Amino acid sequence: MLKLHNSLTNKKEEFKEINKGFVKMYTCGPTVYYYQHIGNMRAYVFMDSLRRVLKYNGYNIKGVMNVTDVGHLTSDEDSGEDKMLLASKRENKTPEEIAKYYADIFFNDLKKLNIDVPENITYATKFIPQMIEFIKGLEEKGYTYKIDDGIYFDVQKFPSYGQLSHKDLEKTGNARIEENLNKHHPFDFALWKFVAPNHIMKWDSPWGVGCPGWHIECSAMGKALLGDRFDIHTGGIDHKTVHHEDEIAQNDALAGHRVVNTWLHNEFLLVDGGKMSKSLGNIYTLSDLEKKGFSSMDFKYFCLNSHYSKKLNFTFEGLKASSNGYKNLKNLLKEHKFGVAKISKEELDKYENEFLDAINDDLNIPLAIGVIFTMLKNFDKSQDVYNLVLKFDKALGLELDKDIEKKEHIPSEILNLADLRLIARQNKDYKKSDELRDKINDLGYMIKDTKDGYEITKMS
Ligand code: AMP
Ligand code: ZN
Repeated sequence: MLKLHNSLTNKKEEFKEINKGFVKMYTCGPTVYYYQHIGNMRAYVFMDSLRRVLKYNGYNIKGVMNVTDVGHLTSDEDSGEDKMLLASKRENKTPEEIAKYYADIFFNDLKKLNIDVPENITYATKFIPQMIEFIKGLEEKGYTYKIDDGIYFDVQKFPSYGQLSHKDLEKTGNARIEENLNKHHPFDFALWKFVAPNHIMKWDSPWGVGCPGWHIECSAMGKALLGDRFDIHTGGIDHKTVHHEDEIAQNDALAGHRVVNTWLHNEFLLVDGGKMSKSLGNIYTLSDLEKKGFSSMDFKYFCLNSHYSKKLNFTFEGLKASSNGYKNLKNLLKEHKFGVAKISKEELDKYENEFLDAINDDLNIPLAIGVIFTMLKNFDKSQDVYNLVLKFDKALGLELDKDIEKKEHIPSEILNLADLRLIARQNKDYKKSDELRDKINDLGYMIKDTKDGYEITKMS
């Protein structure tokens, strides 16, 4: 039985899908105005685990992930500039060029992490008519009002506002009403923002030229692809208080019932115990890690060793330890590849059940990895064990059967030289082989001969 922690009820609940054997799931995707950092990537590693565990349990999935290419302001409330426009000015490119550039890098990063990508990727700018229809629907039901700078959602008309984040309409605290004093309530949020005629990103609407609010994007794309009842919505914890609270308000106000059954949030990745920030110079991307000799899969393994709902502190020492642990796991597995010991079905079943119990207990992947280690260490070398671990890996996506030394961060120039050297060695041309080794060393890499070929490492 799969149990998931639902942020909406704050309880671990037995997962019950709406349509038998089929899960409809929405994931808040990236705003493609800059590189996604390793904190962002933790959110997608979490999505990956969830998708894999659902599939491991036999579910088919219809997943949707948006790419926000308009409308996300620098503040998650309604102040600041649109992040896409800001990037467009900063890099002197059109918003489309910015979106394409950073989206390409993002999807390449997902590939490097062996992330199971959702079936549908939706770009916000392709769904403007659906957003306008959504707002019209809310308007007809009386949930909206118009002021000088846009059309707003009236949270006081939606009595259960605050159910996800436990925000209290009476306690507005430091909510920033000053951004627009005409708002009826500080928690009211923009559905449609008016823009000046010379604004680059703008669309016609029944209310005037403008662009959509950020929250309406996810609601409209979710509705367009998943309908008005779906199983799961995921995102990082920072989206819980505003973005997701506002999505719930829009969705449920329009539908007249609860649209999303289960909300799941991953906790933050911290760096050196704090938030990543430009001023501290500690915002890292996967390529930054690669430059320091770590593979993206080292980072994935690092993430999977902590529960998604716990804060995770990133340090390079921690990553190094994970990288060693990951290598160790793969080495142990390799030893079983040609093992001849026969293991009884009962014994294998025992581990299979333990593994399943762990992943089904709100994705306790760290415990599941522990089960694998125990199994690999306790049994005599056996192909049965090898095959079972590869089955488990479908739920983890750790590519445990891939070469120990990932070649992804080794430049192709070096790999070419290494291949030439391998050929020279096979032809017993040791002079040439030595020359090629020297060349590789001069370029800052070490090459070691192995049974199956070679291993390359970057010199530190
Ligand atoms: P954004 O592009 O800002 O919308 O973020 C993309 C995803 O990354 C969202 O699900 C965020 O909640 C998540 N996220 C942002 N920063 C972090 C972090 N430091 N740790 C974990 N998740 C994060
Ligand atoms: Zn979203």
